[in-house]
Amino acid sequence: IRKELQNAEKVRVISELTSVFAHEIRNPMQVTRGFLELLNEPDLPKEKKEYIQISIEELDRANEIISDFLAFGKPTTDINERIEVGNQLQRVVKIIQSYGMNHNVEIKTEIPGESWIYANSQRLHQSLINILKNAIESMPNGGIVLITYTSTNNGYIRISIKDEGVGMTKEQIDRLGYPYYSLKETGTGLGMMVSFQIIQSFKGKIEVISEKDKGTEFIILLPQIY
Ligand code: ADP
Ligand code: MG
Repeated sequence: IRKELQNAEKVRVISELTSVFAHEIRNPMQVTRGFLELLNEPDLPKEKKEYIQISIEELDRANEIISDFLAFGKPTTDINERIEVGNQLQRVVKIIQSYGMNHNVEIKTEIPGESWIYANSQRLHQSLINILKNAIESMPNGGIVLITYTSTNNGYIRISIKDEGVGMTKEQIDRLGYPYYSLKETGTGLGMMVSFQIIQSFKGKIEVISEKDKGTEFIILLPQIY
């Protein structure tokens, strides 16, 4: 099943501001979480322990939501520049590697020669990380995620991210990118929305090929520059 996702029409609410807020909110949340853990003394009544546990879980959930907008680091400017794809992919793999290892997932990359695009590296990372996280999470028993890229003969860099996971039905693919669409117990349903919006802002496109119980391939097309 193959479908081109036109996401700018679907969602146009994410801005640079979102990630600035996200960063500013994360620090006080971390402090609160730390104090909650200190409050959680062994001899507390059961009920109070439960309240503390719930508070910590809720904070963790809020943190997950922030991660979908701000995987790491401080948001910089939204300025696009000339960046090299292979180099960026290698950096992203470094960031996501340990998450993969925790899930028994190996991330393989095949990087050909140098290719250049016009984009913002931090936002590109965010988009790729959200897709890679899903690829890893789609394989509950582990497996391989393969990242490759080529240049097309109509002026695009074509990045492929392929997993061997649970796959999606046509209906599921159609809902990708809508806010709060998630099949995961503690999913945010925001990762794909953010990814698509970012790629769109680089005048790129995302395509998805997926087969239930076989796996999924995300194809990201970005205008090539020289
Ligand atoms: P979340 O990961 O928090 O659920 P996302 O927006 O990142 O939210 O993804 C939305 C949904 O799309 C996921 O819950 C999952 O059902 C589906 N999905 C995304 N990527 C994949 C994939 N590689 N394989 C299978 N399902 C996927
Ligand atoms: Mg996700």
